[in-house]
Amino acid sequence: MFTPAVVDVEPPDEHFDSADAQSARLRDAIDDVRADIESLRATTAQHSPADAAIFDAHLVMLDDPDLVAAALERIESGVPASRAWAEAVAAVEAEWRAVDDPYLRERAVDVHAVGQQVLRKLAGIPDATIDGTGILVVDDLLPAQAAVLDAEKVAGVILAGGSPTSHAAILARARGIPAVVAAGSDILAIEPGVTVALDGSTGEIIVDPDSQTLERLRGEASRAAERGELARASAHESASTADGTRILVAANLGSVEDARAAAESGADGSGLVRTEFLYLDRAQPPSVDEQIDTYLAMADALGGQRITLRTLDVGGDKPLPFVPQPAEENPFLGLRGLRLALAEKTLFDDQLRAIVTVAHQTPISIMFPMVTTVDELLTAREHLDAAITSVGRGEPAGLEVGIMIEVPAAALKTAAFARYVDFFSIGTNDLTQYTLAAERGNTSVAALADPLDPAVVTLINRVCRGAGPDRLVAVCGELAADETATDLLVALGVRELSVAPRAVPPVKQAVRGIEATTNPRLVERCLEADAAHSVRAALIK
Ligand code: PEP
Ligand code: MG
Repeated sequence: MFTPAVVDVEPPDEHFDSADAQSARLRDAIDDVRADIESLRATTAQHSPADAAIFDAHLVMLDDPDLVAAALERIESGVPASRAWAEAVAAVEAEWRAVDDPYLRERAVDVHAVGQQVLRKLAGIPDATIDGTGILVVDDLLPAQAAVLDAEKVAGVILAGGSPTSHAAILARARGIPAVVAAGSDILAIEPGVTVALDGSTGEIIVDPDSQTLERLRGEASRAAERGELARASAHESASTADGTRILVAANLGSVEDARAAAESGADGSGLVRTEFLYLDRAQPPSVDEQIDTYLAMADALGGQRITLRTLDVGGDKPLPFVPQPAEENPFLGLRGLRLALAEKTLFDDQLRAIVTVAHQTPISIMFPMVTTVDELLTAREHLDAAITSVGRGEPAGLEVGIMIEVPAAALKTAAFARYVDFFSIGTNDLTQYTLAAERGNTSVAALADPLDPAVVTLINRVCRGAGPDRLVAVCGELAADETATDLLVALGVRELSVAPRAVPPVKQAVRGIEATTNPRLVERCLEADAAHSVRAALIK
């Protein structure tokens, strides 16, 4: 292992000549960093197009007019460029850190990363590239550093800090480098040169392993590599269980880039387009035309396969600047998902018109998020009927209508919903948080929020039974990508798994290795289990 010193740059003491000269220095530094980020984006896109989008977000932050204006304002009042920039970045970072939603809070890390890149340019310090061979152990990495790690030299990455969704970890993995995050600061005390073994899939870290352990881990790594290769080789073939049941393995999308990555991974269309990506980070909602263009581009990238457009799923936890919402004490229990859409009718109706227009050109499924009652669904369907009338070309032939099952109440009432929908898609991320009363993203209750808790499994079973034989049941939450659960989900009756683009090949491979019909005992054991770990144990055996 090796531990390079990766330290933040502090703004140097600088002479203030004139506001014009300092402003020009700052603008030049920003231009240089923009060029660097564009090149990092291109490099990353070669390995993993979907992950390259991380750098799109960095470009947006770099050119954030409020941030740049705040720095220039400080320069006007006599502060040198580096300090002005550092202060303006710190203020924006603090704003993101104060946001309730843990996903949005991570933007602070991105602002920090971009801020550091500009500071380095201003201080004339070269980019902090990582040089060394073996397992890299470090507190945290900038995305710009992670994106250019040399997979020939760096065998693995251990971050003392970070989170599973941290961009450094995602970018390292995109280069095929296993990464373990949030290992704790004790890991930094290990002396360079000591042998360290890590398992990127389980997070296991072994310091100074004996030869037997090393042998075992090497064996596991080469078997995993073989499995990965096999999965990639047949990624573009359909996936059926060994006893012949076809399972659709679709992709979850949050950008047109994702759709391209999904096509490369062999996805059977998309089981979830998180359309809110079009609405976040902007002052005005997208126009109907912009939505139409984007949805068509996604369908196009997937060769005209069916895509499932989830209507806007935001709320107090993901506020929009153009939707004034009173502060809520419990935004996850508040005006969110379909509830907000029904309260913001113009926004909802515009989106429905865009979706209906697109559905006249390509196969579309529309899906409503966070549905709780049949009445909500019926009201949403009235809006959809009005949109069909307003577009004026009759009902699109291939349009299918479904709901997400994310609220336990909806899971329990599946049979009542079934006559009004074509399909159900279980959002296990939210269904788990609501069933276990454990907020997703809150690390102190993360251990409780296990989608394999028998209570969640019981609700999934209830959905499959309530849906009846003619309504497809999909899973589009993270559980769909957990290969340990594939057997159980299919045995319960799930017939579509929608996962992140890169998970499509391994999930297809997992489907091919199971049988759909020979498992009543397994289902029984999982439903009767008393804890998530007992369900896992039953599935691993
Ligand atoms: C879910 O809740 O499982 C889901 C897929 O939706 P999101 O993660 O976008 O809330
Ligand atoms: Mg959800």
